[in-house]
Amino acid sequence: ATPMAIIVGLRKLIKKGIVVRNGEALERLKEVQVFVFDKTGTVTKGKIRVARYEGDVDLASHLEKLSNHPVAQAIASLAKGKRHVEGFTEFKGEGVYGKVDGRKVLVGKREFVLRNCEGEGKDADVLVCVEGKVTGYIWLEDEIKEEAIKVVDWLKSRGYEVIIATGDSSKFADRVGEILKVKVYKGLSPEDKVELVRNLGKKVAFVGDGVNDAMALKEAYVGIAISTGTDIAKYAGDVIIPSLESLLDLIAQSKRTVRKIK
Ligand code: ADP
Ligand code: MG
Repeated sequence: ATPMAIIVGLRKLIKKGIVVRNGEALERLKEVQVFVFDKTGTVTKGKIRVARYEGDVDLASHLEKLSNHPVAQAIASLAKGKRHVEGFTEFKGEGVYGKVDGRKVLVGKREFVLRNCEGEGKDADVLVCVEGKVTGYIWLEDEIKEEAIKVVDWLKSRGYEVIIATGDSSKFADRVGEILKVKVYKGLSPEDKVELVRNLGKKVAFVGDGVNDAMALKEAYVGIAISTGTDIAKYAGDVIIPSLESLLDLIAQSKRTVRKIK
């Protein structure tokens, strides 16, 4: 596209709250064949709630106060009183670790906790491990964004392949796939998401969280981060969009901009 056409396109997008970091991304977007979406916070609201729990989740709830992950915030809401946390460590896409009142606590997705602790996982989504043994079980629920069906159908009707890639391995991840009628790759670590993007062997746009999905956003042909925040400098991604639905404005504008070259 001519530099002028790109500048005009970028200005139109800015008015819609869409920030394109470089004009080339707008041109690359036109070549994209596959859209890979992150699930939590991208196609779902990320307003995760604890549906129910069993066993001891108290130490875990205090540890999770130190994480911003939507899953962590849901678990942290169970915390009562005060406890002393030290050595807090976050394992992106897996869980958190730290010492709570002197006890070693690990909280995270089933596979992650079972790899590091003794015990069984039942069919819980998140497990709590204290001093090497599974002591708590947490079941979560989330909601699909209202616009997700519209966005996925729009993309499919225009010939794009649509895939969901998620770190979550719960039954809810399958439900999302059934409702949106797309293939779901679940239980993926951030590295697995990168591998998936690479191994598809196609031109991929990854749409996800600018912080948790930073690696996949960088690996993709076009990385698109959804953010409602103002401090975009700390987010990864070639393009920052304010909502899932604004992805459609972005694609439409990229087509208009590129058409102007001819
Ligand atoms: P998604 O790909 O769905 O956005 P993430 O990759 O961010 O999910 O996280 C994957 C899974 O790892 C979550 O569904 C959750 O089970 C687990 N997880 C991540 N962070 C935490 C945390 N702070 N506490 C507990 N579990 C976590
Ligand atoms: Mg996410």
